[in-house]
Amino acid sequence: MGELRAQFWELPLRDLTRAEWEALCDGCGRCCLHKLEDEDTGEVVDTNIACRLLDTGTAQCSDYRNRKAFVPDCLRLTLRIVEQVTWLPQTCAYRLRAEGQPLQGWHYLLSGDRDAVRRAGVSVVGRVVNEIDAGPMEHHITQWPQPRKDWEREP
Ligand code: SF4
Repeated sequence: MGELRAQFWELPLRDLTRAEWEALCDGCGRCCLHKLEDEDTGEVVDTNIACRLLDTGTAQCSDYRNRKAFVPDCLRLTLRIVEQVTWLPQTCAYRLRAEGQPLQGWHYLLSGDRDAVRRAGVSVVGRVVNEIDAGPMEHHITQWPQPRKDWEREP
C-alpha cells in the first residue's frame, strides 16, 4: 500500500490517492450483499445474502484481485459510482465522505481497531449466508439496525 497522508479521510474524496481510497473502506462487507429492487416502485431492499466470494467469517473478499473473473458484475467503487448509487449503507465511509460527513467513531481509522466495525453492529461477520446456500432471495430480506453507540463496551 502506498503512502497515506495524515488524516487523509478528512480530505474530499476526489483528492485521495489510490492507496488512500482503498484504505478508506471500513471493511463492513455490506456492499457485497445482494439487494432486491421492487419492479414497480424502484425501492431497493437489503438481504443477508452474500456474494459467493465473500468470506462470511471475516467480511473480506476471498479473491479481491481476481474477483471480476468470477463475478463479472462486481462493481469497483469509484467516485462517480459512489455519487450515483443509492444502495450503499448510510454507514459506508465513501457515502459519508461523499455527503461531506465525518467518519463514525468506530471506523478503524479513528478507533485504531479493525474489530470495532463488528462491535458497532455494522459488519456482516456472522450475520449473512453465502449465495450458494441461500435459496430464494425473498426469504432473506433484512433491515440492518443502526450502529451501536456502546460499541466500545461490546465484547
Ligand atoms: S459498504 Fe462501503 S465501507 Fe462497507 S465494505 Fe463496502 S465500500 Fe467498504
